[in-house]
Amino acid sequence: MASSVILVTGGTGLVGSAIKHVIETEPEGSRFGKRPGETWIFASSSEGDLRDPVAARKLFDKYKPTHVIHLAALVGGLFRNMKYKLTFLRDNLLINDNVLHTSYLTQTQKVISCLSTCVFPDKVSYPLDEDKIHLGLPHESNFGYAHSKRLVDVMNHAYKEEFGCNFTSAIPTNIFGPNDNFDLEDSHVIPGLIHKCYLAKKNGTPFVVSGTGKPLRQFIYSYDLAKMFIWMLREYDDVEPIILSVGEDEEVSIKQVADAIVKAMGFKGEYTFDTTRADGQYRKPASNAKLLKLMGGFEFTPFDTALNDTVKWFVESYDKART
Ligand code: NDP
Repeated sequence: MASSVILVTGGTGLVGSAIKHVIETEPEGSRFGKRPGETWIFASSSEGDLRDPVAARKLFDKYKPTHVIHLAALVGGLFRNMKYKLTFLRDNLLINDNVLHTSYLTQTQKVISCLSTCVFPDKVSYPLDEDKIHLGLPHESNFGYAHSKRLVDVMNHAYKEEFGCNFTSAIPTNIFGPNDNFDLEDSHVIPGLIHKCYLAKKNGTPFVVSGTGKPLRQFIYSYDLAKMFIWMLREYDDVEPIILSVGEDEEVSIKQVADAIVKAMGFKGEYTFDTTRADGQYRKPASNAKLLKLMGGFEFTPFDTALNDTVKWFVESYDKART
């Protein structure tokens, strides 16, 4: 890549901070390290509320990005998604419209936006793959967020057809890592359980996991995901989305997650499952065949190593973590 300015919106969140970490720690000039001529900008909402078109334009005029990795979004766990469907729909529609349209107006060469596997239909055959996004309605519990993300794919195609823009999107499965949101009420499963176990150890109380522990999920470490975004930035130029995930054979049960957290935390107290609480869907595997075919293989961080590092980060950063 010649001289380029890469603007990462949502650059201070879980995924954005992981991209920053990889760019700053991988050897310069290496596959995932910083390349000569690249300037990376990691923007937070304090640099401009992207729901506002004027603020979006100001951010673009300030940095003049040639490339955008668009991560900024209103993100939440199931509880907030269920309660604030219109807010999730509207805030994310506004953010996405402003980022894509400003990118078009300022002739940004490429935009990669971040979707989520919740864009997929509720009733669909498994494994999920990139051709199934629009085959039916998303799950009712988070339809606001899901539709706002689905429309990014629609917009990418429309911008390409009408204006020839190089806009595309990535679909990660469940992400975890340092700088996640560890809020007890409103986090995703891994950060929520890490925080619960931390408090159980600190207070000498039982560590209670909601549900049976049987559901299976694919979890991707934020530092691995960061490398995939960097690869997409440099090598992927197609409007069609790509699922960024570990393989279907790498599903992990919630019990395995909880066991690994107990071990990493050194928790020795009472540890139980509250089977009166709902489990959610048993599994919803997604295929990473397209990713591996195009990327030519990828060495994923083993789940236990990634989880250990995340727990260590949380314990050491408790005062500054989002709790
Ligand atoms: P985080 O909640 O960790 O970070 C969100 C980022 O977006 C922050 O940098 C935040 O800035 C910024 N942001 C939020 N609202 C605005 C706004 N109105 N204007 C400008 N910036 C804003 O999110 P993640 O890193 O977890 O998520 C990144 C992307 O990945 C999102 O698009 C999300 O939908 C997607 N995703 C996440 C998954 C997960 O498991 N976490 C799974 C699948 C997809 P600030 O902190 O300064 O407010």
